[in-house]
Amino acid sequence: MHLNPSHVLARLQRVVRDRIRPRLHTPVADVTVTAWRVDGDGEPVPVARALEADYTPFAIGDTWAPAWGTTWLRIEGRVPDTGLPVELVLDLGWFDHSVGGHAEGLAYRPDGVPVKALHPRNGWVRLTGPGAAPGLVAEDRTFVVYVEAAANPLLLGLPPFVETTWGEKPGPGEPEPYRLVSAQLCAFDPDVFDLLRDLEATGDLLPHLDTDEPRYWRVLTAVESALDAPTTGQARAALAGALAQPAHASAHTMTAIGHAHIDSAWLWPLRETRRKVARTLTNVLTLMETDPDLVYAMSSAQQFAWVQEDHPELFERVKQKVAEGRIVPVGGMWVESDAMMPSGESLVRQISMGKRYFRETFGHESEVVWLPDSFGYSGAWPQIARRAGYRWFLTQKISWNDTTTFPHHTFAWEGIDGSRIFTHFPPADTYAAEVTPAELKHAVRNFRDKAISGRSLLLYGYGDGGGGPNREMAARAHRFRDLEGTARVELGSPEEFFAAAEAEMGDRAPVWAGELYLELHRGTLTSQIAMKQGNRRAEALLRTVEYLAAVAAVRDGVAYPYDELEKAWQTVLLHQFHDILPGSSISWVHREARATYDALLDDLTGLVPGGGAPGRVSGWQVVRDVTPVAPVGNVLDNGILRAEIGDNGHVVSLVDLRDGRQLNVGDLGVLRLFRDEPVRWDAWDLDRHVFRNERALPAARVEISDMSISALIDHDESAFTITYSLLPGSAQLDITVDVDWQETEHLLKLSIPVGVRTLRARYETQYGALDRPTHENTLADEAQYEVCSHRFVHVGEPGLGVGVVNDSTYGCDVRRIPGGTDIRPTLLRAPRFPDPDTDRGRHTFRFAVVAGDETATRAAADDLNAPRLDGLADTEPLIELGLESGAAVIDWIKLADDRSGDVIVRIHESRGGRATARPHASFPATVTETDLLERPESPANGDGLILGPYQITTLRFSPIKER
Ligand SMILES: [Zn+2]
Repeated sequence: MHLNPSHVLARLQRVVRDRIRPRLHTPVADVTVTAWRVDGDGEPVPVARALEADYTPFAIGDTWAPAWGTTWLRIEGRVPDTGLPVELVLDLGWFDHSVGGHAEGLAYRPDGVPVKALHPRNGWVRLTGPGAAPGLVAEDRTFVVYVEAAANPLLLGLPPFVETTWGEKPGPGEPEPYRLVSAQLCAFDPDVFDLLRDLEATGDLLPHLDTDEPRYWRVLTAVESALDAPTTGQARAALAGALAQPAHASAHTMTAIGHAHIDSAWLWPLRETRRKVARTLTNVLTLMETDPDLVYAMSSAQQFAWVQEDHPELFERVKQKVAEGRIVPVGGMWVESDAMMPSGESLVRQISMGKRYFRETFGHESEVVWLPDSFGYSGAWPQIARRAGYRWFLTQKISWNDTTTFPHHTFAWEGIDGSRIFTHFPPADTYAAEVTPAELKHAVRNFRDKAISGRSLLLYGYGDGGGGPNREMAARAHRFRDLEGTARVELGSPEEFFAAAEAEMGDRAPVWAGELYLELHRGTLTSQIAMKQGNRRAEALLRTVEYLAAVAAVRDGVAYPYDELEKAWQTVLLHQFHDILPGSSISWVHREARATYDALLDDLTGLVPGGGAPGRVSGWQVVRDVTPVAPVGNVLDNGILRAEIGDNGHVVSLVDLRDGRQLNVGDLGVLRLFRDEPVRWDAWDLDRHVFRNERALPAARVEISDMSISALIDHDESAFTITYSLLPGSAQLDITVDVDWQETEHLLKLSIPVGVRTLRARYETQYGALDRPTHENTLADEAQYEVCSHRFVHVGEPGLGVGVVNDSTYGCDVRRIPGGTDIRPTLLRAPRFPDPDTDRGRHTFRFAVVAGDETATRAAADDLNAPRLDGLADTEPLIELGLESGAAVIDWIKLADDRSGDVIVRIHESRGGRATARPHASFPATVTETDLLERPESPANGDGLILGPYQITTLRFSPIKER
């Protein structure tokens, strides 16, 4: 008989849709639904409050809450005896997509214990049969279930990136987004469930098999026979032979790990994430009841801590699974932070606070950095990770590159200092796989290190908004354990995979040196600038407060505010999450974050030991403000620099009077406005075409005061003021930019063209600097048209160096121009999705143009970023670094996390060379060298440090108590 493959596949789809899937759940009884709409501000309430509320009758088909509202459904009935497991099946008005991106529910027992979550691909609660939640059904077969239904609106819909006002709660009278479509008791047919999975493992595999091979035709025949079969059992029997054929001897092996990427905030506020984590974990625990092989990996100490606070009973069950090795805490960071912008000390604290939580709560230390979704990875990571006890690094985000294809999936990543860490990108190019034949095929075809490795990772489970693995995914994974025509799928842990992959590669792992630049989402270095400013200012204030508190503790025995500082750090670390600091969340998230940063900066300022006059801590001592030189006409001149401001408000001449060199090439200090209309991912992406649509903003007028010269610019509704000043004895031109930003879809840069010719610019990064080309010779060079810079960029040629220092920007581009180099920090954007009012309002930025080398530039960056405080007593440095050769700096001084009173000092080589230095404490102390987590690494080497390029060292000074 003629076999027509396309007809068989079309028939398969039709039969599954119309004849098999409807038999999975057979309605067996109705239920009674009553509801309580959360009153007051509509914000979530604890389950205890919901259990004692007044429930009123509720009809199927009614809308149930305003957007962002919560309604509790009380569902009760009697379970008939059907001979099959019975499930409560709910449809809250699901879309058949965007799991975790719209409405969700969490079912509770009447005693307030959460049992299972509900989402479009997991809309059931099992009442009887294997895996049923204990205690749900009474002896007389009656039951009561409470469902906390969250009307989270669909924000990233079809089509995506449509401007929306649903990033905040709607006003009164706006339509409610969801109707309760159905609530029924259904008999669940496990044979139908298995047949559906068998058909997925064979029928969905067919398009990925080779029609030249017998395997294709045998699977096709088996599928056709199954479709002909009169019963479920006979259909399964028809497929059994095809499903029993083992994988090829050389088949690729994938370690499949259940996972739920849960963004700590994104298209929902922080408070919703707390509920998302609980929902996902109930699903995972439910699945583990019936699937003894499932392993689930979960990152972020903060997310575990939320469950611990909100659902102690659920948390105990999680702890039990961690002890059994089935829930694997991974990453060991406080959150999955942005991996470019946080300072070195912030990344260390992400790790030290996260790992401490994991250790104290679970007795577990993760060896793998887990950052599947951050927008690029700084070249400082390998050293930071290795010095914090990690062996491995995981991401997949670089697969999103828009220009070049990254050449490896498994490799040794070498950081700016030469440290290497074994790194893997799961080749399925997702952290939220569904375990389909198409994904497995893509992973095998895509995997770029086949020559030396035969294994990879597969992270499966609904992600972004959580959800995690469902029973369909797990059942498919089992069918792919050893199946001809696809990769072998093993259920396992990340550690098992990494250990096996590293052993398999040995020393043959290819090496990638430098940062992992993401050729996408370049706008996240600028969007929601208040996040960047809040983060930078909080980091700088913590640096000052921890230092002054350490000084007060060591010198005067003043109590060190451990608890307050820990709480402050937790706030800073949470807001470094990879959709908050990057500015890619909804209005609600950023509005709350701005208020949080304001309160945090106030609280931290309150921790500064008082007394004395206004000042700042710079170079680890207190310095006072000095008065800038007075302008003479339109010229600022302090005997070192001479700046002339033109009628257009630009610096038309900047001369280093020490050698007479002209530092600028053309006008310097020009604000440039670009039309910035993204193609997609609005808050994320800064597209190439933006750079073709620009205009310079000339001043309407120039004002000269006693201490500065200002250029005032009006543009439509926006207003800009650039103020220039020079301090006596200083080799830097200070620039302050005040903006009242009322633009939409525009980008603002400050242009600093300098007479330095160089093929490379140096950008500050964590614990050092990164060289990047200023040319566009290769695709990869060109793709880096907007990059991350921490506090400074420096360009130099023999005998001449210029640095540009900022107090709160991260986005930057540096390009070669005739006669020199244009350094252009990015100040503002105004994307409309997901927050239509991004960055509207007033902002202040401070910059400095430094004539000098990188060491002078770094010192200027320290000084510009040092918070000005009202009252500071004069203080001699607590620790000094006697430099004998090279360049090294003290980055941080604090008291030890173990609260012993020891002083922790973080030092690093700063220019990529070698340094020898002699640290000296101003108090009697013994010194040990530790890792980044303050654990002893080597005995006293404190009086003669030898540092390699960008090497970080942590010293612990234990005060010798006087008797
Ligand atoms: Zn994410």
